[in-house]
Amino acid sequence: MARVLVLGGTDLANAFVTALQVAHPDLEIVLSLAGRTRNPKLPDCAIRTGGFGGAEGLAAYLREEGITALVDATHPYAAQISANAAKAASATGTPCLHLVRPAWEQAPGDNWHHARDYEEAAKHLDELSQTHPLTVFLTVGRQELKPFHHLMNCTHVVRSVEQPDEAELPPGARVVLARGPFREEDEAAFLKENRIDVIVSKNSGGTATYGKILAARTLRMPVVMMERPPLPDGETVGDVESAVRWVAVHHAS
Ligand code: NAP
Repeated sequence: MARVLVLGGTDLANAFVTALQVAHPDLEIVLSLAGRTRNPKLPDCAIRTGGFGGAEGLAAYLREEGITALVDATHPYAAQISANAAKAASATGTPCLHLVRPAWEQAPGDNWHHARDYEEAAKHLDELSQTHPLTVFLTVGRQELKPFHHLMNCTHVVRSVEQPDEAELPPGARVVLARGPFREEDEAAFLKENRIDVIVSKNSGGTATYGKILAARTLRMPVVMMERPPLPDGETVGDVESAVRWVAVHHAS
């Protein structure tokens, strides 16, 4: 029996599972989540939740559950689980695909400050706020806020799907709870209403969170753009259709 394990936690993983069910109703699909989000939106398939216990734990799961193909459709910044997927697949001889949205490319009018890590992002903000105070829109998630705690001349607006822990928040930060997709016109209105001077963003790719980047372009607003961590070696596709085809090829016989 063909049995596909999808590592998810993203809208892309959900869309992939739904497309796979339509294209191959005979396949067994298990969607795996880290379990960070309390009420995730999920497709109608078997779900397992929680870590596997590193690459070794994932390899054991692949063997014990008779998984015939592994699709890593986690977020481009979830580097640890992607590395574990590649290692576990290689150790067990399981075909493995990374499904990851192509990164956004800088376009004319964009004013991006590239940052390799959060410390570098904070340094950009420190430099940008030398001459005047800044209101910073932090859209990097609720667990990556510590490096922004000590910026003297910045106040922060943090957008997150779930309430961040108080200890994670930069002093005086205001929290906005919201789940995408976000439209460009709504983002432009938000940026203006909240007098945002600069955005900090991951390069998530796709359209759901691209609205703020488009709005920043129109408003000539700087964006501190976090670089993506490198993907492990292995087959990679950027869209659901290609991933569905890959599964078909690996279960053709
Ligand atoms: P990470 O740093 O790469 O992973 C840390 C650990 O969490 C992994 O070693 C693994 O634990 C467990 N884990 C992660 N994804 C898992 C999955 N889909 N199923 C089972 N276990 C998983 O990941 P992260 O950045 O904390 O992200 C956690 C989840 O949130 C991912 O599923 C990702 O797709 C989603 N997400 C992340 C971001 C982001 O910006 N990082 C944004 C949106 C959604 P074990 O080693 O014990 O197996």
